[in-house]
Amino acid sequence: MTVRVRIAPSPTGNLHIGTARTAVFNWLFARHHGGEFILRIEDTDEARSRPEYTQNILDGLKWMGMTWDEGPFFQSKRLDLYRKAIQTLVDKGYAYRCYTSEAELDELRTAQAARKEAPRYDNRHRNLTPEQQAAFEAEGRRPVLRFKIDDDREISWNDLVRGKVSWKASDLGGDMVIARASDDPVGQPLYNLAVVVDDIDMRITHVIRGEDHIANTAKQILLYEALGSAIPEFAHTPLILNKEGKKLSKRDGVTSISDFQQMGYTPEALANYMTLLGWTPPDSTKEIFTLPEAAQQFGFERVNKAGAKFDWDKLNWLNSQYLHKMPIDELLNQLIPYWQAAGYEFDPISDRSWLEPLTSLLSASLTRLQDAVEMSRIFFSQTVAYSEEGLTQLQQEGTETALQAILDALENYQTLTAEGAQDIIKQLTKEKNLKKGLVMRSFRAALTGDLHGPDLIQSWLILNHRGLDKLRLQQALEK
Ligand code: GLU
Repeated sequence: MTVRVRIAPSPTGNLHIGTARTAVFNWLFARHHGGEFILRIEDTDEARSRPEYTQNILDGLKWMGMTWDEGPFFQSKRLDLYRKAIQTLVDKGYAYRCYTSEAELDELRTAQAARKEAPRYDNRHRNLTPEQQAAFEAEGRRPVLRFKIDDDREISWNDLVRGKVSWKASDLGGDMVIARASDDPVGQPLYNLAVVVDDIDMRITHVIRGEDHIANTAKQILLYEALGSAIPEFAHTPLILNKEGKKLSKRDGVTSISDFQQMGYTPEALANYMTLLGWTPPDSTKEIFTLPEAAQQFGFERVNKAGAKFDWDKLNWLNSQYLHKMPIDELLNQLIPYWQAAGYEFDPISDRSWLEPLTSLLSASLTRLQDAVEMSRIFFSQTVAYSEEGLTQLQQEGTETALQAILDALENYQTLTAEGAQDIIKQLTKEKNLKKGLVMRSFRAALTGDLHGPDLIQSWLILNHRGLDKLRLQQALEK
C-alpha cells in the first residue's frame, strides 16, 4: 500500500503556523514512507474564502520546502462529487431533509440551556412523511440535509498519536447537517461530508491533522461507514500553545508563515523548528536538521500527546544558527530585499564590494534577517545620529585631538587596509599620549554615533570604502 496523505487548508486566512506544522508532519510522514503528499484547498465556504489567501498558502508551503505531489485540488470545483454522495446517502436512508427553522432551533437551544443540557438537535424531522415534507415546502421552508447519528453507538479508532480514542455518538450533537439549504435539491455540501468524499476519492490512507478535529473524526467515521468505504488511519497532532498554555491564536501576534518570512526567519530554520513542535527526534541532542533528514527518522511513536508550547527563544536560537552558518554571498542575497524595503540606497551589484564585508561584519550578530536593517543603518546613510552616550563621549577631553589626528592621518591613505587602520590608531595614541580606550570610544562615537556596535576597525574600513569616514569625523568635530 502506498501511503497517501494530504494537507487540506481552508483559504479563509493566511497560512497559519498550526496548518504549516500539520503540513510538515504530513510531508515528513509521506517522505518517510516514500508516499504521496497531496494538497487540497477547502474553499467551500464562499463567504470567507479568498484567492489571495489561497496564494498565500501555496507560496508559504513552497517557501518552506513542502512540495506536493498532487494538487492543488479545489473543493469548489468538486461540488458535483459531494452532491452525488449526498444523494446516495438520502437514497439509502442515511440522510434526510430537515425543515427546522433557525427560530425553532434557537428555541430548542434555549430550553436545553435552561435545563443545563448541552445543545443538540433533537432529530425531530428524522421521520417526516412525504405529506409533512410537502407541507413545509409549501410554507416556503428550505431544508438542510442531515445525516442520522445513532445515539447508542460508540465510535472508536486507534489513533497513531493518542492510542485508542472513543466517542459516544450521543455526544455529537444529534443528527448532523451535511449540506446547507440552497437552490440545489441536495443543498450546499459542508465540511465533514466534503472531507470524507475527498479523502475516499483521493485514496487517502492516513489523515494527519490537529487535535481540534477529534470530534469531526468521530462524525467522519460514521460517514465512511455509510458510504461503504474503508476507514483511513488517523493521527491527531498536539495543538500549538502560547506561553500561557492556551491554543496559539491571532491574539498572540505573529501566527502566519508570511509574517515569519517578513521578519527574516529562514525557511530551513522555521521548518526545522516546526518539526520539533510536537516531535522528538530519536537523538534528542541533535536539534538542527533539514526536512529530508527529519523525514528519514519521522514516526508518530515520537509525537507527543501534550500540546507543544511555542518557544520564541528556541526559534530565534535555531534561526541564528542557520544565519551564522550561511555562506556570506548567500546571506547578502537574502539581506538585499530587507535593505531595499527599508529604503536604503545602494546598487545591489556594483556595491557588493562593500556589501559583502558589511554582511560578514553582521553575520555573527544576526538573529533574524530583519535585524540587519537597524544594525546597518549607519553604513547606508550619509550622516549619523548621535545617542546621548555618543554625544557625551564626543565632549570628552582628548576626543578632538584624537579625531583630528585620524582625519590628518587619513590623508596618507588612498585605500585603507586593516593594517593601516591599526597603525593610525597605534601611532596617534603614542604621539598624542592618549589612552587607546578613549581613542576607540570617541572614534566609535564619531563614526557610528554610539558607543556600541560591531567591530570598529571593520566598520571603519567599510565606511572608508564608501568615503564616509572623513565626513563623519568632520561632522563630529563640529559638535
Ligand atoms: N479545512 C480543514 C482545516 O483547515 C482541514 C481539516 C482536515 O484536515 O480534515 O482545518
